[in-house]
Amino acid sequence: MTAQTHHEFDLRSSNTMGIAAVARPLIEVLDVADLPNVFDVFNGVRPLVLGSGSNIVFAADPSMPVLRLRNEELVWREDGDDVYVQVGAGLNWHAFVMDTVARGLWGIENLAYIPGTVGACPIQNIGAYGVEVKDAVLNVTVFEVATGSFHTLSNADCDFSYRESMFKRDLTKYVITNVEFRLSKQPKPQLSYAGLSEVLNDDGTLTSKQVADAVIAIRQSKLPDPVVLGNAGSFFKNPIVPLQVAEALAAQYEKMPVFKGSSDATRKLSAAWLIDQAGWKGHREGDAGVSPGHALVLVNYGNATGADIMNLAHKITASVHDKFNITIEPEPRVVG
Ligand SMILES: Cc1cc2nc3c(=O)[nH]c(=O)nc-3n(C[C@H](O)[C@H](O)[C@H](O)COP(=O)(O)OP(=O)(O)OC[C@H]3O[C@@H](n4cnc5c(N)ncnc54)[C@H](O)[C@@H]3O)c2cc1C
Repeated sequence: MTAQTHHEFDLRSSNTMGIAAVARPLIEVLDVADLPNVFDVFNGVRPLVLGSGSNIVFAADPSMPVLRLRNEELVWREDGDDVYVQVGAGLNWHAFVMDTVARGLWGIENLAYIPGTVGACPIQNIGAYGVEVKDAVLNVTVFEVATGSFHTLSNADCDFSYRESMFKRDLTKYVITNVEFRLSKQPKPQLSYAGLSEVLNDDGTLTSKQVADAVIAIRQSKLPDPVVLGNAGSFFKNPIVPLQVAEALAAQYEKMPVFKGSSDATRKLSAAWLIDQAGWKGHREGDAGVSPGHALVLVNYGNATGADIMNLAHKITASVHDKFNITIEPEPRVVG
């Protein structure tokens, strides 16, 4: 077996919030063919599958074993202008994106600089700058925990939507081992998002690397770097509300941003705006705080515990609810 077992593993540098927590044990798997043997050892207990820990908050030590995949293989094939690549779950997402743009391929350049692993990208259908990963995912290979067997699920099987997928509805059912993407040699710049169209011009010579570089520059200027200041990116999802609710609020708050929802009957509100209006931007309680630059980002100034962060998150949720009668929900998985 190629798996490595750490009986007690300090997770502080394995989550971007920088929260202290201990895995008992952490098992690292290099070859996914070993997963049936590893799960035999778990003896029916479902583990927490950990990627880079950029969308997880450890409110306490995980009560289950922690599993981390280290497979990083890339298998490429071409069919005309389409390029297919099957990628190991353990590969760093940003490194993969930069590999594709270095090859001149189009499809995921707007998703550059999102922290995490390839294996986690389908879980919440990662998205940024007008692109969601669902548009490039061809299929997802999984280890099904209940049956101990491997399956390849189609894009439709994954049931992707905004920050959602079938995986997120039952996080212990599958371990994602590989993701296959369909990319294109043909230029397909997606510059609709404000910020990108201001700095890039689709004059026919634009490369996917230039788009990725612009995205990286914008992200670096906006979001705190988790290496410098612990955070999990956007801590709350933008709430999706019925059209009538959005209209009633917009009549009361003229400047409230309202975006298209998943259907004509719904609208997406800006959680950042709601939190900012409720007065939380820059607020700090001990070492837990709300980023002064971005109301959606909760930060760890050093020694905040998971309980400190969750305590602050609950206060923000309650105050947004009191002011707007809107319930905002955390985006990261809360463990413990
Ligand atoms: C600074 C910052 C910016 C961010 N910006 C964005 C953004 O623009 N857009 C966006 O969508 N997200 C963003 N995120 C969130 C995060 O980067 C993504 O959700 C990312 O896909 C998480 O990857 P991870 O490997 O760190 O997963 P983890 O945080 O380790 O895990 C997240 C979830 O996926 C599960 N999981 C992980 N790997 C597997 C696997 N192989 N099989 C089964 N389950 C698995 C975990 O159990 C957990 O439930 C940001 C985070 C940070 C810190």
